[in-house]
Order: sequence, then C-alpha cells, then structure tokens
Amino acid sequence: MHAFQTDDSRLHTFAYKVLARERLTASDALLLYRTGDILAVGWLANHVRESMHGDKTYFNVNRHINPTNVCVAACRLCAFGRKKDAPGAYTMALEEAFETAASGYSDVVTEFHIVGGLHPDLPFQYFLDLIAGLKERFPQVHLKAFTMVEIAYLARRAKLSTEDTLRQLKAAGVDSLPGGGAEIFADRVRHIICDHKIDGDQWLETARLAHQMGLKSNATMLYGHVENDEDRVDHLMKLRNLQDETGGFQTFIPLAFHPDNTPLQHLPKTTGMTDIRQIAVSRLVLDNFPHIKAYWQMMTAKIAQIALRFGADDIDGTVIEEKIYHDAGATTPQGMRREELIRLIGEAGREPIERDTLYRPVTRTETSVTVAV
Ligand code: SF4
Repeated sequence: MHAFQTDDSRLHTFAYKVLARERLTASDALLLYRTGDILAVGWLANHVRESMHGDKTYFNVNRHINPTNVCVAACRLCAFGRKKDAPGAYTMALEEAFETAASGYSDVVTEFHIVGGLHPDLPFQYFLDLIAGLKERFPQVHLKAFTMVEIAYLARRAKLSTEDTLRQLKAAGVDSLPGGGAEIFADRVRHIICDHKIDGDQWLETARLAHQMGLKSNATMLYGHVENDEDRVDHLMKLRNLQDETGGFQTFIPLAFHPDNTPLQHLPKTTGMTDIRQIAVSRLVLDNFPHIKAYWQMMTAKIAQIALRFGADDIDGTVIEEKIYHDAGATTPQGMRREELIRLIGEAGREPIERDTLYRPVTRTETSVTVAV
C-alpha cells in the first residue's frame, strides 16, 4: 500500500490518530464527512479494514422472506408498507411462507432474513408458528428475524414486555436479529421520515435487551434524505456507545435512501461518492464493530465492489427476492448467484469467504455444506 497522502492539512493529525488506533471523536467524524479528500478518507478506512480482516471479504447464501407488507406505520421513507385493503397488500399464510422459504434456488441457503410490515391483526402466535415451522423444516438454516421496530410492535400487540417477547421468539427458533428500523436516531429527522415508529432510544433499548439475552444483531443507518452530517455522527456515536456496553452488534450496514414511490420521492438519490464516503466514515468511527457491510442490493454491485477498498469487508449475500428496496425503485437484480458474488469480490482483489450469519466459514462440496464452529 502506498504511504498516506492528503492535500487537506487537517487530516494529518487525524491520520496519526487512526494509525495509532486512537478513538475518533464526534468532531473528527464531522471532518470526515466534510473534507474534500475522499481518497485520503478511503486510504485510512482501508488501512483499518485490512488490519482487521486482511483481504477477507465475507458473503453468505441467504434468502429474504417478507411475510407481509401490511403495515400500520406509513413511514414517509417507505415504498414497501401498505394499508390492509390497499392494492398490492399481501400477507402470507404460514404454508405460503414455508413454500417461499423452500423455493427456487439450488445452492443450500444458510440464512433466512425475515422482516415485514407492522400488521394490525396478525397475532403473536403467527410469528411464533412461522419461526417454529421454519426451524422444523430447515433446522440447519439460521433465522435472522424481526427488526427492533417489529419486536417492539409485537410486544405491544401481545401485551408482553420486550424481554418476554424476545424470549418467546428465541425459544421458537430466532437465532439473531437484523439491523433495520434504526434509520436516523435524531428525533427531528424521525419526525419527518418515520414518525410512527419507535424512537431512537427505544430502538437502542430493544437492541440492548436482545444482546443481553444472547441474541446478536446488526445495525443500520438510512442516509441520504433529510438528515445532516451532525445527525449521522450522532447516530454512529450512539451505536458505538451501545456496542461498548453489550458487544452484541456484528455488522453495521449503511443504507442509501431510495426515494422512488415514497412520499419523499422529490428528494434526489444518493451519489456514488456519498455512498463510498459513508462506508469509509463508518469503518473509521465504529472501531468496535467487527464488520462493515456494503449491501450490494442497495448501492449496486459496482459501487459495493469499490466499497471493498474503502472500508467494507462484507458484501451481503445472494439475497433472492428482495422486495423492500425494489418497491422503492432499486434497479439491481433481486438476487445474485454465489459464483457471481465470488467473481465480484475476486475482481476487487479480495479473498471471498462464504460465511454463515455468525461469520463462521462455510465449506461446500458437491454433496455437503459444513459450517466451521
Ligand atoms: S418502513 Fe417498516 S414500519 Fe415503516 S411503513 Fe415501511 S414497513 Fe412499515
């Protein structure tokens, strides 16, 4: 790797801190968002990424299952949720969800990623049966299910505490939680983009409880709408603080806002530079997060590939049938084959490592799939 260079003199002290593995402050993070020297920011993020993971780049073979798009929340950021009787609203019967889980892909899937709308009528038992039924039919598949927002809603509807809700879901077979619904924690922004969702503190508290119960989770941040740099920094700092406390986050996934078909469709889409910078800043600020993911569905496979040189060490998975961002105008394919992901990573000069949800290496032969434990 060439030596660090920058034409922004403010970055020199900052580089010293990164190389000495000193923790960055909120004002350091703001500078990272504001400097014009994106390549210098990328160099530093890549340095951290390579010292943590070398060339290793993780992906998995997963399938998304969205059991319902019926949702009471009507977030302005969303093109997926529908009112119960609106055109396009759907709710899978349990058998239908099991068929979806089993359908249409030849490689053996190691993860089901299960998220959906906040349905006003589906009983808690539906979700317990969904999870237990999937576990029974696919015992080898890791169930990464329900965002903090869904957990809080299920608890409210079932009149249970968050702890009891998580405990019952875990007993039914939930293995870990995804990172969605975090959006931007700042109240000012939440009021504009998702004012019916739990607030930032409730999201963090739900994650804290899940981690204390031994359930790992991811964390996301939706950027590129009405938030400003301070809001992004505040979001990252809150996640870093909670991670210091619980160590329960595996991966941070910055999500670019897709405005099409949402009430915020007048907003422009993010640009490649914004996406790349967000990956790099995340890697530098979240020094206690093991992984930073460039979610190819969201940022396109080409930008995700570049992000592997700007701090990202994970590119997500084969996905299969992504609905949420495609309803919002994403033009990426709805899934990618394992071989294509491997090629993408290899051509970025990185080493593809198939992982399971908990980042244990997966080995495949023609007849078997083994997870290293
Ligand atoms: S973002 Fe989630 S909670 Fe908000 S409307 Fe869409 S599906 Fe519902």
